[in-house]
Amino acid sequence: MIFDDKLHEECGVFGAVVNNREASGLTYNALSALQHRGQEGAGIASLNGSAILYHKDLGLVSEVFSKSVLSRLPESNMAIGHVRYSTTGANCVQNVQPVVTEYLRGRLATAHNGNIVNAGAIKERLQSYGCDFAATNDTEVISSLIAYEALHTDSIEQAVINAVRQLRGAFSLVILSSKNKLIAVRDGFGMRPLCLGRSDHGIAVASESCALDSSNFQFERDVKPGEMIVIEADGSMKSSIVLEENRTAFCLFEYIYFARSDSEIDHLSVYQAHFNMGRQLAREFPVEADMVCGVPDSGLDAAAGYAFESGIPLGSGFTKNRYIGRSFIFPTQTQRDNAVRLKLNPLKANIRGKRLVVVDDSIVRGTTSARTVKMLRDAGAAEVHMRISAPPFTHTCHFGTDIDDESKLIANKMSIEETAKFIGADSLGYISIEGIKQACDGCSLDLCTGCFDGNYPMDIGHHKKSEFEC
Ligand code: SF4
Repeated sequence: MIFDDKLHEECGVFGAVVNNREASGLTYNALSALQHRGQEGAGIASLNGSAILYHKDLGLVSEVFSKSVLSRLPESNMAIGHVRYSTTGANCVQNVQPVVTEYLRGRLATAHNGNIVNAGAIKERLQSYGCDFAATNDTEVISSLIAYEALHTDSIEQAVINAVRQLRGAFSLVILSSKNKLIAVRDGFGMRPLCLGRSDHGIAVASESCALDSSNFQFERDVKPGEMIVIEADGSMKSSIVLEENRTAFCLFEYIYFARSDSEIDHLSVYQAHFNMGRQLAREFPVEADMVCGVPDSGLDAAAGYAFESGIPLGSGFTKNRYIGRSFIFPTQTQRDNAVRLKLNPLKANIRGKRLVVVDDSIVRGTTSARTVKMLRDAGAAEVHMRISAPPFTHTCHFGTDIDDESKLIANKMSIEETAKFIGADSLGYISIEGIKQACDGCSLDLCTGCFDGNYPMDIGHHKKSEFEC
């Protein structure tokens, strides 16, 4: 849920099959590297014989897996993990993943990044068959659907195929089965990232390549849209395309904000995408200024691109307190406002008297940008020219990104000139949709631009965004 007028991360998934009993520990390392994708909850499920043991709770990875919990993680050759950010609804332990489901023929644990548009209809159908649900997330629906399908076939792979063919929406799934298999599936549009890595000890799948790096796996390739990967206990792997759509649609906002700069997704480095966006912004919105600075963290690489293209020196405009993480845990607006200031402080000595180009990743309702501009002016900036490396948000997202109600998006309420005035900037420029597509030209998939132009890759029908969340 949005409390501080910034978009929040989604979810991160990881799974590993190794031959040295270290899957749980590797999963912990990988989840730590994926922490930027979700800070509300974390969990690890490991396979021990035919039992699935798991630990999950609300909080950061380091809070959920304290030293004593870590020391009790089971030694295992197969494990999966998840970090969670809820797009709507309850932030409660029942919704933390992996979701573990028992059925007559076995057990499975499921970790999911994305959003299933028709989860409500599937849940109702499963309830009519007698299935019980404890959580309010769509992952429990997916897990129950796979378990239901597993009752009608001897093969867990076929049960997964039968289940995912009923899902509409965005999903990168990692599933641990008591049948000694780890299964990963990416939706047919390839909306959320998922990649594959190898080490001397085994194979891993992860939301981002930075998680493979942190757990000592070498990035091998991205999982293809619609691809299902099945990894057996002996480390052998099978791959097949089980879902086909008439186009691909990778989430553009992954490159703008969600993914870590050191990750590479679908053949494009996230850092390079940020840098290209900054260069494109400089071409589209040049201005005379003394210094370019980025709003930490995701504005920094784009600011470097703007400086490179414009020839204006790059400098630091802010100091970030690295130990203040989640401003949304403060219950009142005043406390949240103070928390934002605790997080980011202007670097007065480097700002005073200067005409600044300030690069940030997005404007949602405008309140955070207004605070940022005011901070810079109070610190003595002579001019503040805001440059935004995302086009204006005009639509919500149905695929797992926490974008505000359309009536609250500033781009639906004000012109760009009015927005500049509202946030107190001397000028404001958003990268164009065409411009950002050029900046992300290296991506091997087509891009989803739904929240910027309403062109969603699939029909949303009558389904509501808030039915279920990641
Ligand atoms: S609508 Fe926007 S945030 Fe949602 S998947 Fe598409 S590009 Fe990403």
